Formats: sequence, C-alpha cells, structure tokens
Amino acid sequence: MEAAVARARLEELLAELEASAAVVQHAGEDAGERPTLDQHPADSGSNLADADREEATLEIVLAQQERVREALARLDAGTYGQCVDCGRELPDARLEVRPEASRCVDCQQRRESLR
Ligand SMILES: [Zn+2]
Repeated sequence: MEAAVARARLEELLAELEASAAVVQHAGEDAGERPTLDQHPADSGSNLADADREEATLEIVLAQQERVREALARLDAGTYGQCVDCGRELPDARLEVRPEASRCVDCQQRRESLR
C-alpha cells in the first residue's frame, strides 16, 4: 500500500476513533447528570453496568487509537507495512482491512495464543 494512501486511511481512522471516544465520554457525562430523585433503586444496577460498559468501550477505542498512532509513527519511520515481529511485509489485503495492523497474521495469532 502506498504510504500516502495508508496515511490518509490512518488519519481518517484516528478521526473516527476520536469521535467515538467523544461520544462514549459524552454519554457517560449525561448519565452522571441525570437527576437521581426519580431513579428507581432497581435502575441503579443497570446504570452501573452501563457505566462499566462505557468504560470498557472507551478502553477499546483508546487502545485502537494508540495502535493507529503507532502505525502513523511507523509510516514516518518508513517501516509501515512490515511485521514488527518477523519483518515480513504485510499483504495489502490485510492492511486494507486493518490499516493499523503491526503484525502479520501468523505473528498476531502466535501472540494471541500466548495470552
Ligand atoms: Zn510476522
């Protein structure tokens, strides 16, 4: 994949992720501002679960942002599109689906199976 194309896609992805993070954070703020008076005791449990879910979603979005930023840094360093583990070039098909991918499928699977 051409560096210019990759950069445009990564920047677009980063903007989307920042928008998602803002939406999740805003949703959390709204929940906090909700008056507590008319809240049924049974609702507080589900609100807490919502907050947990928002936090989990935010963590995923922020982690994804971090990966996109790393990919942009690799573009600057000229190592974009290479597996950070084995150095093999990532196929364009993989970068099409995940422009922020830092590992080839083999290394990614090996890494995930270690968890
Ligand atoms: Zn690899």
